Amino acid sequence: MSEWLDEESGRIALVEYSRRVYAKGWVANHDGNLSVRVGEDRIIATPTATSKGDIRPEMLIVVDMSGRKREGTRRPFSEFSIHLAAYRARPDIRAVLHAHPVTATAFALAGIPLEPTIMAETVVSLGACIPTTPFALPFGEEGARPLEPFLEDSDAFLLEGHGALTIAPDLETAFLRMELLEHLAKIQKAARELGSVQRLDPHDIEALLTRRHRAGLGAAARREKHGHVEQASLIADQDATQQVLTTISTQTPRHAPMQGEEMRSPCSGDVRAPLPSAASSPSLSADTLRALIVEEARRVLED
Ligand SMILES: [Zn+2]
Repeated sequence: MSEWLDEESGRIALVEYSRRVYAKGWVANHDGNLSVRVGEDRIIATPTATSKGDIRPEMLIVVDMSGRKREGTRRPFSEFSIHLAAYRARPDIRAVLHAHPVTATAFALAGIPLEPTIMAETVVSLGACIPTTPFALPFGEEGARPLEPFLEDSDAFLLEGHGALTIAPDLETAFLRMELLEHLAKIQKAARELGSVQRLDPHDIEALLTRRHRAGLGAAARREKHGHVEQASLIADQDATQQVLTTISTQTPRHAPMQGEEMRSPCSGDVRAPLPSAASSPSLSADTLRALIVEEARRVLED
C-alpha cells in the first residue's frame, strides 16, 4: 500500500476539486460531497450545507473511520456513511466523490443502465460494468448498504434515483472517472437519440479487459499488485468477466439496435445471476443457442 498523502496536499486537492465539480455543473445548491483519506483513521471531507463552488480550506472537517467528527467547525454531510463504506471495503482507495451530473443522473432516474461496453476507452478505464445500485435514502448506514456488494469490483457507480459516485486512489482520478462517466452518459444518450447503440464485439471487449488488467485496473489486478492473490478470487473474477461477456453476446447480437427497455445491463447485480436456462443446455451448440436467442429477441422486438 502506498504511503498516506500528506494532509496539506489533501486539503489543497479537496478545495480545488470541489470547485472543479461545481464548475462542471455536476452539483447545485449544497449537492455533492468529496473526501480524501489521509491516514488509518483520518478522513478530510467537505462539510454539509455548503456550495462546492464556495469551499475554502478552513471549512473542511476531519472525520474518523467510525464517522465521528474530530476537527472543524462545520458538520459532516448526511451521505458520509457512503464514503465510509467505500474506505472500509477498499483500502486501496483514498478519495470518494459523489455528485449529481445531469446526464448520468438522468440514466439513474430513468432506470437505464450506462453501458461502458459501447466504447473502447470506457471498458479500459471503467471496466465492462457500471453498476446501478438499488435506491436507498441517502442517510446513515442504511444509505450505504445497497452500494456495499458492488464496491469490490467497480470504481464508478450510478445510485438509482439519486446520482453518481466514483472512488479512486486519489482525488484527481476520482474526478476523471466522474468526468468519463458523465461523458459516456452524454454519448450514449446522443446515440440513442440517433436511433441505435451498439455494444462492441465480445472478443474486442475481452481484449480491452485484458488491457485494463495489464494497466493494473480492476479487482484481480489490484489483488495481484498488493500480493493478496487468492486463486479462488481470481477464478471468481474470471467467472464474473466471462458471465458479462456471455450475457452481452447472448443478449445483444452485434449490429442489432440496443435501445430502451430491451437494453438490460450485464451488471447491476445480474452479473452473477444465472443465465437463461437454455444457455446451459448441453445438447445445443453455443452457435445454435445464440441463433435461437437472436431469433427470440427479434420476435420480441417486432411484437
Ligand atoms: Zn446526493
